[in-house]
Amino acid sequence: MIQVTDLRKSYGETEAVRGISFDVRPGEVLGLVGPNGAGKTTTLRCLAGILPPTSGSVAIAGRDLRLDPVGAKARLAWIPDDPRLFENLTVEEHLRFIGRLYRVEDAEERIPALLEEFEIAGKAGELPGALSRGMKQKLSIACAFLHRPKAILFDEPLTGLDPIAIRKAKDSIVRQAEEGAAIIVSSHLLALVEEIAHRVLVILDGAKAAHGTLEELKAAHPDLAAGARLEEIFMRMALGPAAGAAGAPPAADPPPPPGPLPPAP
Ligand code: ATP
Repeated sequence: MIQVTDLRKSYGETEAVRGISFDVRPGEVLGLVGPNGAGKTTTLRCLAGILPPTSGSVAIAGRDLRLDPVGAKARLAWIPDDPRLFENLTVEEHLRFIGRLYRVEDAEERIPALLEEFEIAGKAGELPGALSRGMKQKLSIACAFLHRPKAILFDEPLTGLDPIAIRKAKDSIVRQAEEGAAIIVSSHLLALVEEIAHRVLVILDGAKAAHGTLEELKAAHPDLAAGARLEEIFMRMALGPAAGAAGAPPAADPPPPPGPLPPAP
């Protein structure tokens, strides 16, 4: 559903993304992790069609983003970490506008349910200036879900949400995947990634350092404890063998693993 081939992006002399390839299947949640400046946001912005890649290709639901940008973008949703809203549109007008933009025929029926799901029905007539940061984030996610995207890109989706909203947002992400969307979640919250991602893509210094299920990532570090968590594996990859073992969190209480990885097409 999302196919990325040899993606490269440079800002002048800075090579932010250096030849990354991966895919995300329908129904799969891919966790994108890496240290600050690793190239995660640049990768997502290239996938969303916001930044033109220096080279390489991106296809969304079989549509090449460069050759058919409208066809590809019509099938994806991008939720940046900093919600971008229109200051003169109310909450409800945002959803109506997105509904018209994406030609969502049943938008009028879907909007009340989305307002309820994201607990912003009481703010339907308010402008973004009157919303808290978490409410803006909820509106941004509601807008993203309205056109039933086949590919959803989240950059730090839980920033600013309260614990109840975090639980609901996680459930919403999992539900979208269960309904067949291919999802990428970029986050520094490794426990979140471990909980909801079927596979993890680790980016270090603009390059792919690892890509696989948690079990596959663990297998690459047999010296780590059998119950090693993603945090220990990540520290080991980012900081080298000196990291991890001492002071590693106990292996007890791992989050339940996500459902089975969707079959390869
Ligand atoms: P973080 O976890 O801090 O959000 P990230 O993994 O998302 O980091 P990017 O924002 O993609 O990293 O940045 C990757 C590299 O590209 C960094 O070296 C950064 O300084 C550089 N970079 C990002 N945006 C620009 C820009 N607009 N102009 C020039 N360099 C940029």
